[in-house]
Amino acid sequence: MTEQRHDTATLYIDGKWESSSSGETRTVICPADGSTVGVVSEAATADTEAAIAAARRAFDSRVWADRPAAERGDFLFRVADALTERKDEFARAEALDTGKRLVEAEGDMDDIISCFRYFGKIADQHPGRLVDAGDDSVISRVVYEPIGVCGMITPWNFPLLQAAWKIAPALAAGNSFVIKPAELTPHTTILIIDVLDQLGLPAGVANLVLGDGGTVGAPLSSHPDVDLVSFTGGLVTGRKIAESASRTIKKVALELGGKNPNIVFADADFDAALDNALNAGFLDSGLVCSAGARLIVQDTIAEKFVDELVRRAEGIVMGGPFDEKAETGPLVSAEHRDKVTDYVNRGIAAGARLRTGGHWGGPEHEKGFFYAPTVLDRCASGMAVVVEEGFGPVITVETFSTEEEAVALGNDTEYGLAGAVWTSDAGIANRVSRRLRHGTIWINDFHPYLPQAEWGGFKMSGVGRELGPTGLEEYREAKHIYQNTEPAVSGWFPEKH
Ligand code: NAD
Repeated sequence: MTEQRHDTATLYIDGKWESSSSGETRTVICPADGSTVGVVSEAATADTEAAIAAARRAFDSRVWADRPAAERGDFLFRVADALTERKDEFARAEALDTGKRLVEAEGDMDDIISCFRYFGKIADQHPGRLVDAGDDSVISRVVYEPIGVCGMITPWNFPLLQAAWKIAPALAAGNSFVIKPAELTPHTTILIIDVLDQLGLPAGVANLVLGDGGTVGAPLSSHPDVDLVSFTGGLVTGRKIAESASRTIKKVALELGGKNPNIVFADADFDAALDNALNAGFLDSGLVCSAGARLIVQDTIAEKFVDELVRRAEGIVMGGPFDEKAETGPLVSAEHRDKVTDYVNRGIAAGARLRTGGHWGGPEHEKGFFYAPTVLDRCASGMAVVVEEGFGPVITVETFSTEEEAVALGNDTEYGLAGAVWTSDAGIANRVSRRLRHGTIWINDFHPYLPQAEWGGFKMSGVGRELGPTGLEEYREAKHIYQNTEPAVSGWFPEKH
């Protein structure tokens, strides 16, 4: 499985590939078998500062910001074309870094390409608007301008997808940026920067630093020359970034975790709800911020539904990215697997019943960081495994009897990222979907999202939105220009002789 990359000049600063100023490197391993995927530069704080300075110079020179918006949009279409041509290379790199199945990484690539095309298409569609000042001598308009230098910090579960949701709108709007991917999964971010370089993006507009969050990522939230920090990752890190960014009053966009309810009413299509409950909880080993990790099922069907869920979960085959029999992959690291193990054990100690899973797989999984698809029933919202984001292939089961109880349970979390309701009653579907306080609600489905539709969280799941027209607005500032075409003396402070 191993693919070795030994070129360690993997930082990209001011249009040049560089090694770390400290000379340090990091070995990236495949979580499916612990093999070496590659060795990359481990940046120092000084490298991030150099990258921020390059982005600042590029932005202040207006080399990208002053290009016509349609031209910036065309560039994004060319990125999409290049990604299409190099799709296999990218998908393999993503699968090796994350351990996810190749077919899942290929699916991610399709979404990434769609994202670049979407922002390419809308780059020049929302230039601003005229405002009626109520005075024919005044031309009043609101224009949108790039925000400046954007710091981007991304997680390891969808490394390039999360980067694309930031890079595409930032470039569409005319910004410069510095991106820092998660230290465990840097390779596809290196590859996309290579695409931008090859396509001739001016030096300094895109910059890449690799390494540890505290050393390499932190300056992106604290540095006065960064105008916006856009972060996708966990709640604890999100809080640190928001606190640090507050000192320089920079704009902050946060896409944080979720603990997402999947609510199944007794009148739902049983087979579709069951199949999708598996998909909601176990797709990509549950390493999805919007995973349906909280199954909330109506009491009259709960026993049959959960029995079937357990039977089907027991049949899920775990394996590495290129194992054609595998249906799900590993967790990202031994440390992360320990965290999931601890959550499940604490849930059991608190009274949850382990129905299946709760172990690391068989001897064939020993070299990787696998955790078997797990179902816990008899759960209650006081349990950490139910309300905190453990982030793994674990479904907890709670039951309800009335619609009010279903909504109350669905909202009984500090998070508000996504949720689903399964019912054949349009009235229930409508009422419940409106009362759930989450940024995305699926009715009789789970997981689909569209680049045209906003994505983001209520409550502790974040601040701001990615995708959709609002996803472009995150990267722009509104400016009101008020022009008086007939300047005249106001007389407010009359001249005194
Ligand atoms: P994480 O918070 O541990 O790390 C995310 C990134 O932040 C990494 O690049 C890390 O190096 C960096 N970082 C860590 N400390 C930092 C600091 N002090 N300053 C600046 N950067 C720092 O998250 P993770 O474990 O990589 O990712 C999983 C999390 O991401 C989950 O909580 C998941 O729900 C969330 N996520 C959310 C969405 C969404 O759309 N809302 C999408 C994907 C993932």
